[in-house]
Amino acid sequence: MSSNLRILVACKRVVDYAVKIRVNAAGSAVETANVKHSMNPFDEIGTEQAIQIKEALAKNKGNADVVVVSCGPAKAQETLRTALAMGADRAIHVESDEELQPLAVAKLLKAVVEKEKPDIVILGKQAIDDDSNQTGQMLAGLLNWPQATFASKVELAEKAMTVTREIDGGVETIKTPLPAILTTDLRLNVPRYASLPNIMKAKKKPLAKLTVAELGVDVKPRLETLKVAEPPKRQGGKLVESVDDLVDKLKNEAKVL
Ligand code: AMP
Repeated sequence: MSSNLRILVACKRVVDYAVKIRVNAAGSAVETANVKHSMNPFDEIGTEQAIQIKEALAKNKGNADVVVVSCGPAKAQETLRTALAMGADRAIHVESDEELQPLAVAKLLKAVVEKEKPDIVILGKQAIDDDSNQTGQMLAGLLNWPQATFASKVELAEKAMTVTREIDGGVETIKTPLPAILTTDLRLNVPRYASLPNIMKAKKKPLAKLTVAELGVDVKPRLETLKVAEPPKRQGGKLVESVDDLVDKLKNEAKVL
């Protein structure tokens, strides 16, 4: 196994998974004002994976430099501090108050990759706010790197990794040379909680700031959102007296039999 690696982990700040999402009054987006935000859950899994690789390498006197990166407004730094408290070594904040669509993020990450030269870039399979499932794939395309998406198991070897992928109705195992892109699926690991001493230590870890202009990336949105709507309200249920009654209603009222 390679004894020294650099791993870049993309972490997005999103509306917390436990918040009941509401559409804004204009019907143009999800309401984000005064709503709890946290790290995208698939990015917590990505950070955990990078730290587990670091811990495994440390047992053989190796090291992984775990660098976390987030693109977005100033508050993205809170997400980066969480990743540092989990065990990442340093953070990069690409500051932008503009809307950043997946292609824009992929281009920004490409510019960061060119500076940092990581062996592996880990992203979530999707961000739970826009559910795009695009950024990792686009980054692989822009870099012309191999990609292992929807990972549920990762094994590192010398300049290569073997990845088990979640696919429809089963799993697929692939081997890719490094450098490569990895996107995380839910079953890859269970992310750790940051302990209080580690949260304190994280405040002193390095957090570098970059601007979109410094990276020279055009982040102009390419997609226009026409409308955002909530799913139709569920109708109330009905109690039936017997199985015969149920069959009768399914046949004659719902007409599904
Ligand atoms: P998406 O393609 O939007 O579903 O996002 C997939 C993954 O790309 C996320 O899980 C993150 O790892 C990464 N990503 C997307 N947007 C950002 C962002 N603004 N900053 C950092 N990483 C991001």
